[in-house]
Amino acid sequence: MNKRVYLDYSATTPVRPEVSAAMTPYLAECFGNPSSIHALGRETRMAIEEARDRLRAALGGGGSLAFTGSGTEADNLAVLGFARRNPGGCIVRSNIEHKAVMESTRALVETGYDVRVAPVDERGVLQLEELRVLIPNDRPTLVSVMWANNETGAVQPVAEIAATCQERGALFHSDAVQALGKLDTASAGVDFDLIAVSAHKIGGPKGVGALWIREGVELEPLVYGGGHEGGLRSGTQNVAGVVGFARAAELAAAKLDSESERWQALRDRLQRGLREALPEIVVNGGDAPQRLPSVLNISVPAIDIEGLLTSLDLEGICVSSGSACTTGSVKPSHVISAMGRQGDLASNTIRFSLGWPSEESDIDYALEVFPRLVRRVRG
Ligand code: PLP
Repeated sequence: MNKRVYLDYSATTPVRPEVSAAMTPYLAECFGNPSSIHALGRETRMAIEEARDRLRAALGGGGSLAFTGSGTEADNLAVLGFARRNPGGCIVRSNIEHKAVMESTRALVETGYDVRVAPVDERGVLQLEELRVLIPNDRPTLVSVMWANNETGAVQPVAEIAATCQERGALFHSDAVQALGKLDTASAGVDFDLIAVSAHKIGGPKGVGALWIREGVELEPLVYGGGHEGGLRSGTQNVAGVVGFARAAELAAAKLDSESERWQALRDRLQRGLREALPEIVVNGGDAPQRLPSVLNISVPAIDIEGLLTSLDLEGICVSSGSACTTGSVKPSHVISAMGRQGDLASNTIRFSLGWPSEESDIDYALEVFPRLVRRVRG
C-alpha cells in the first residue's frame, strides 16, 4: 500500500484511544435510557450531566449547555433558534462563516428576515467598525462571528466583538468548532452569549456537538419531542458520544500548551519549506494578528488545482482545498475571496492542517512531494 500522510485534521480527527476507552462502557454495558427512572437510566443520566459540566468548564463555565447531533446543528440552533424567538429581529454575520451559519442565515433571508453581512479585511480578520454600523439599535439582534476560521485559521477579535455587541445591545454567537482544543477557550474571559462546538475536530466522535448558552438567553427549539436538553433539543441523547466529547475536550485542554507549541513548529517548518521551494505561493491568513497554530492555507498560482489535488491524493497526501469542486468546476473559496483575492489566488487554495497524531515525518513527506507535484502538474 502507498504511503499515506494525513494533513487534514481541520476536517476531522481520529478518536483518541482515551476517548474510545471512556465511551466503550456506554455502548453496551451502561445502555440505559437517560430519561428512565430506574438505576440504569440514572447511571447514564449522571454520565451525561458529568459530561455537560466538564464541557461547560472547557468553555469557561457558567451558563447551560445543550448537546446536539453536530457542530452544524449547534450553529443552526443558535441562528434559527434566535430568529424564531425574535421575529422581526436581525442577524449580522461575517462573510467568512462556515456553511452552517451561511446557509441557515440564507434560509432566513428567503423568509424575509433581516440578515446583514460584515466584511473581513485582506488578512481575513473581521472589520469591527463595519460590524458596529451594521448592528441596528431598534430591534433584537444576534451577531454571529466564528472564533477561528476553518480555512485560514485566522483568529477573530472576539473580545472586541463581544464589547461591540454589549455596547449595541446585541447578542453574540460564536462558532468555536475550530477554536476548541486549539485556543484557550476555558479562560479566554470573553462575553459570549452562544458558543457552538463539535467533538470530531478534537479527537472525539463524529455526530456530537453542543451549544453553550449564557444564562438568560432564550432560543426556540428546532427539534420538538420529549423535551430533552432543557427542551432545546428533543431526542434520546447519544450517551457514549457526549461522554467521549467531554473526555476529548479535557484531554485537549490539558495538552493545549505543549500541542500548540509543537503544531506551530511543524506548521512553520512546512510554511518555510514550501516558500523556499515555491516562492510564488501566497500564504492566506499569515498576516492575521493571531492564527491557529495547526493551519497553513496557501494559494498556488498558475496551476490546474484539480490536477494537483488528484496528484496529491495519488501520492497519499490528504489535504483540503477551500474551493469546493462541484461537477468538475472549481469554485473559488468564499473565505479567500472575502479577503480580496481573485482569480487563481481565490480558486487554487490548499489547506494543510495538523492534529494530535501529526509528526515531523508528515512534514518531511509533504515537503518532499508537494513542490515536485506542483512542477509536474504545471508541466
Ligand atoms: N463550523 C466550523 C467552523 C467547522 O469547521 C465545521 C466543520 O467543518 C462545522 C462548523 C460543522 O461541524 P460538524 O462537522 O460537527 O457539523
